[in-house]
Amino acid sequence: MQIDLEAERKEILNRYKALIQACKRRLEKGDKEMIRKAFEVAVESHKEMRRKSGEPYIYHPIAVAHICAEEIGLGATAIVCALLHDTVEDTDLTLEDIKGLFGPKVAAIIDGLTKISGVIDQSSSIQAENFRKVLLTMAEDIRVILIKLADRLHNMRTLEHMKRDKQMKIASETLYLYAPLAHRLGLNAIKSELEDLSLKYTDDKGFEEIVSKLEETEPERKKFIQKFIEPLQEILKEQGFKFKMFGRPKSIFSIYNKIKNKGVTFEEIYDLFAIRIVIDTPLDQEKSDCWKVYSIITDFYHPSPDRLRDWISTPKSNGYESLHTTVMGPEGKWVEVQIRTVRMDELAEKGYAAHWKYKESAAEKENNLEGWLRKIREMLENPDANALEFLDDFKLNLFSDEIFVFTPKGDMKTLPSGATALDFAFDIHTKIGEHCIGAKVNHKLVPLSYEIKSGDQIEILTSNKQTPKEDWIGYVITARAKSKIKNALKEQRKKVAEEGKEILEKKFYKAKLDFTLQNVNDFCKFLHLPNSLELFYRAAVGNVDAKEIKDFVKHKEDPEKQLQEKQIPKKLSN
Ligand code: MN
Repeated sequence: MQIDLEAERKEILNRYKALIQACKRRLEKGDKEMIRKAFEVAVESHKEMRRKSGEPYIYHPIAVAHICAEEIGLGATAIVCALLHDTVEDTDLTLEDIKGLFGPKVAAIIDGLTKISGVIDQSSSIQAENFRKVLLTMAEDIRVILIKLADRLHNMRTLEHMKRDKQMKIASETLYLYAPLAHRLGLNAIKSELEDLSLKYTDDKGFEEIVSKLEETEPERKKFIQKFIEPLQEILKEQGFKFKMFGRPKSIFSIYNKIKNKGVTFEEIYDLFAIRIVIDTPLDQEKSDCWKVYSIITDFYHPSPDRLRDWISTPKSNGYESLHTTVMGPEGKWVEVQIRTVRMDELAEKGYAAHWKYKESAAEKENNLEGWLRKIREMLENPDANALEFLDDFKLNLFSDEIFVFTPKGDMKTLPSGATALDFAFDIHTKIGEHCIGAKVNHKLVPLSYEIKSGDQIEILTSNKQTPKEDWIGYVITARAKSKIKNALKEQRKKVAEEGKEILEKKFYKAKLDFTLQNVNDFCKFLHLPNSLELFYRAAVGNVDAKEIKDFVKHKEDPEKQLQEKQIPKKLSN
């Protein structure tokens, strides 16, 4: 097939123009020139390359930059980096070149992106250790992971051109790592799309079945939504609200999971959609206006008393704000209603990047995204944490629901659901956790392992004599508490081992054995112990007896003979 290069050149320019259009509002002086330069460098260095689909490769970086601008709301630096994100890895351009052309910040982000793809894309499956490296890189600059998410989203959107085994690998990786990350960063639209696209490749039959059922039932659903909305629209208009009200279908992936996990049929799912009301109102009236709308709706439809969720007074830690209620709609059907403002809606769809433009206070930032990144850095700093354990802990913290609890002074803390009084103690401070002897929850005495619940007020009781115990590991669920306890136990073991070393030295002396490094190591091997620390520890708790040392001395004098004795005792006795 003849390729029309002229037409392609025009198309590349068109796509570039669309990109500039998408980020125009946010650009400052000089930004456009820098983006133009990045575009030209990217076009030049990818010029001979094509994607699997046969399209010019440059379509991909432009698309990734477009996602960054339009769907994540990132600024000029990120757009420049997105345009260049595959250059260092796939072309002759070096990191030094990038640094010279665009400065150290852009170079650092590109470096991060190149490292991430080195650990993920080339391994046959994601390994825990790689995952850890990804997080490390990401904790340095959040834009690295946001651009990586945009990159992954575009690759998922164009996955049809890949071979079957590659599709499976990329799709399951996306489900395993990228969708949860998007969720944690509050990028709901991207998270849902990543999940739906992954499902399409990991279980195409299951996916198609839901898609066609959703299509079949759509007219009926539309009618119902109209019937539900109409009377409310009238009243809200009368009250002078500027708003949008519409039905939002549940994602295919979440319907799929509900069918699978709850054993229900498609027809039995009552919340296939939610009604969303997005009001346009100034920042200082957000909360009261949302509650006014709530009041109007529940005057009209009766709410279920146990299904009110106020994420406005207490936003989720990924930044999500919204007021949810479930009401009895027409035809006796329960309907979920989500009430929020334009700002909250944008935040819920685009996540933190969108949030930044509303210039929240520094304290709030620390509470949300920064706090989360700080926790990741802390987890990563523990150098001997078992990578696999770390991954489990991390995923738990990524997925679990949250509870909100209070200190005696009324400060609020966010913890994963299932957290215990001991988790809470470690969340406040390592020292408080280590010396914790119990807690008072709502003024009642409870044990360390007590599972705390949203709204609890918790006072931690401490004693200077208290130290972490082995069974504490089973009392906590947060990664932070677990690693702090493990560290403390290890320290304790080291101290005990010091004493054990002296005890062993005396025992060696009695057996006329020199206390040399060689002898200690050989004795370890003889007892099948992993290291000398373990041996000293055993000595300290009285688990090394004189007979073992005697046997060892015999073995040392003539290992051959002992071996023979063990293997052929019968022949010798004949
Ligand atoms: Mn890429």
